[in-house]
Amino acid sequence: MADLLALSSRIIDSGLTDQPVNRITNELSEVAADIAMVESFSHCVALRTDDGLVCFDSSGVGTGQAVRESLRGWSDQRVSHLVYTHGHADHVGGSTFFADDAPVVVGHENVAHRLDRYDFTNNWNLIINARQFGGVPGELNLSVGAGMNVEVNPKARRFLPSSTLRPSDTFATSRTLHVGGQQIELNHARGETDDHLWAWLPERKTLMTGDFLIWNFPNAGNPQKVQRYPIEWAAALRAMIDKGPELLLPAHGLPIEGRERVARVLDDVATALENLVADVVAMMNTGETLDTIIHTVKVPAETLAKPYLRPLYDEPEFVVRGIWRQFGGWWDGAASRLKPSPDAHLASALAQLAGGADAVLRRAEAAASEGDLRLACHLADLAGWASPDDPTIHAGRSAIYIARRKAEPSLMAKGIFAAAAKESQLIVEREALTND
Ligand SMILES: [Zn+2]
Repeated sequence: MADLLALSSRIIDSGLTDQPVNRITNELSEVAADIAMVESFSHCVALRTDDGLVCFDSSGVGTGQAVRESLRGWSDQRVSHLVYTHGHADHVGGSTFFADDAPVVVGHENVAHRLDRYDFTNNWNLIINARQFGGVPGELNLSVGAGMNVEVNPKARRFLPSSTLRPSDTFATSRTLHVGGQQIELNHARGETDDHLWAWLPERKTLMTGDFLIWNFPNAGNPQKVQRYPIEWAAALRAMIDKGPELLLPAHGLPIEGRERVARVLDDVATALENLVADVVAMMNTGETLDTIIHTVKVPAETLAKPYLRPLYDEPEFVVRGIWRQFGGWWDGAASRLKPSPDAHLASALAQLAGGADAVLRRAEAAASEGDLRLACHLADLAGWASPDDPTIHAGRSAIYIARRKAEPSLMAKGIFAAAAKESQLIVEREALTND
């Protein structure tokens, strides 16, 4: 029982992350009497009551079955309630494997809108999820328009299985459940999503945080996804601290025990978000452009070194953009980008000035070798747009993006740069075939 909590306490207290903290083992740990956590793609936290199990999240479609089996090894009770901390696929996709229990499915009222949106933008979600892990649309066998029109039955690939259980018991701001002698308070707050809840067991002084805590820098700036809410995220963390929790069970990462330790972690994450918002909004209020703000606002290195704030998934620069988007418009403040020329048209003009796309690529390679990978990627893109079918240009662009991927810490940046490398690599391979 104590292993997971001892590991967590040691890592938090020492500040040294010498072991993985986000583990997908599908193994169950009983972290307190009648409370278990199955570590998975998203965790499933289970509370044993006199009337069955109350489970928080079902994990994703790929892990839900293993999670349900681990729960059976701990308790043969039926799952009477399945609570969704929010409607992300890694939290609800495994619900199919809870269907035999016929649980009451509890969630915020916006979960249903999210699931409808996932239907409406099914292929988009498949594409961005693939890209987040370095894939490109062509590999998905989707019909995505010019150049990639491989027709498939649009129902053949679902971002979320159609058998995903929909919430049957929803609420807007808060809701209290009484199940088998246990009291469970559910509180809605916006943060990573607009359909989030966090749960509080007053008699156990225990928190289920969902993705309000993920043992990574908060996922508040995902470049490919809808708006996140950093201020409300921080406020929710402060509301949690006010309850005086002694045990915290997140949907990703390790559980945390000890009133002072839980409060310290929640405060550190809240403070990081609050400072970032304050810095960005202060600059917006003086009329700075997004470009200036992105290259000015930073999170202190010692904050990013904390075991639960490392920028290994999302990263502060993307959160800065998310804050700009929340309070501003989509325009970044550069007049030419209000109604821009097509990328290829601008790139061709610049390549002509430089003496050809190969000259642009050589300058990109020089920038890369000097360590200026940001500049190198701009120039590599321009070279690629100016010569969209040139295998030599695209081999060079691919190499630059492979180097960029290696240099970046966050999974989101790594994925997009890996996808860019692959995109150029596919052009190289395609041209080799046509020239055979
Ligand atoms: Zn999650």
